[in-house]
Amino acid sequence: MDTNTERKRIYLSSPTMHGKEQEFVKEAFDTNWVAPLGPNVNGFEKELAEYVGISHAAALDSGTAAIHLALKLAGVKEGDVVFVPTLTFSATCNPVVYEKAVPVFIDSEADTWNMSPEALERAFEKYPSPKAVIVVHLYGTPAKLDEIMDICKKHGTTLIEDAAESLSSTYKGKQTGTFGKFGIYSFNGNKIITTSGGGMLVSEDEALIQKARFLSTQARDPARHYQHSQIGYNYRMSNITAGIGRGQLLSLEEHKRRKKAIYEKYRQAFSDIGEIQMNPLNEEGDANCWLSCMTIAEGSKVAKDMVLDALEKENIEARPIWKPMHLQPVFADCDFITLCRNGESLAEDIFNRGLCLPSDIKNTDEDMERIIRIVRGLFL
Ligand SMILES: *Cc1c(COP(=O)(O)O)cnc(C)c1O
Repeated sequence: MDTNTERKRIYLSSPTMHGKEQEFVKEAFDTNWVAPLGPNVNGFEKELAEYVGISHAAALDSGTAAIHLALKLAGVKEGDVVFVPTLTFSATCNPVVYEKAVPVFIDSEADTWNMSPEALERAFEKYPSPKAVIVVHLYGTPAKLDEIMDICKKHGTTLIEDAAESLSSTYKGKQTGTFGKFGIYSFNGNKIITTSGGGMLVSEDEALIQKARFLSTQARDPARHYQHSQIGYNYRMSNITAGIGRGQLLSLEEHKRRKKAIYEKYRQAFSDIGEIQMNPLNEEGDANCWLSCMTIAEGSKVAKDMVLDALEKENIEARPIWKPMHLQPVFADCDFITLCRNGESLAEDIFNRGLCLPSDIKNTDEDMERIIRIVRGLFL
């Protein structure tokens, strides 16, 4: 009999609720605000904007919707080029294709795993006038924002920050998501705080955020008779969902502390194993450590799949690193800019040797020890 399946499942990153969420939701029920508008929507926008330190925010039903509207508001149109990091989740670049624009993928750099400023410069040599650049703060680690912002400024290109994974991470003391013309956050089920599903678009530009609210509610012109002069979307966050978000926001700092403690625990536990390296955290910032990741040195007897298999056998959820977009069948025709002359790009190398460790903040000390024992066992 396989006793392992009876063991409690340990998750990669699952929702952690605290009770406050239900009070906001109950309030919405009690007052019958069960709609894609209402006091929780307004409250969540205001409270999140205050938390990250930005002037305006629009609550939407996903991070993907927020990226889509950011691209529209940046004026991205059919045939336009948009630079996107290759090492990310597909949601970063799918909205580029919704607009029939052309994603050009940019390789990573080793210090943060994020978009390489050098490769970005190279991309501008080949495509001098892209409509936008999307930067991602992968696994919560801030990208090299100073360098990337300088390059975007020099070329007069709009910067969109996909901070879906990095809410609460800071770069030089300022929240990720607040550096670009637009920032986006996600509240999907596995993110650092969740509303089951949801997203936020933020900007210093009030008119643009107003426009986002307009587009996200079917682009109704101000007239009694349902008049439309543009194509709209049904992207607005509901008042119930926003209630969960308001409650979660109260625990965001605590979630960050616990995520960082998980990373530190792994780092120490593997520090004597030369073949294991943790994901980089960018010294210029304070990462939220949304997911703790490790890479295995080349030439090790342990392959990443052996680690994933060993954990899965014990009912423990771990994941590969995002498979780079330039290697995805659906983006096979897209260009990819890398500094590697031949052979493997840096993003592909990270993908080949890396994995995401269970980073659920509900993990107990015993859970962590079990995970660590299994991983260490493979290397010793
Ligand atoms: C989760 C995620 C998104 C998408 O957010 P949704 O709310 O799931 O639509 C976008 N980009 C990155 C990097 C993500 O991890």
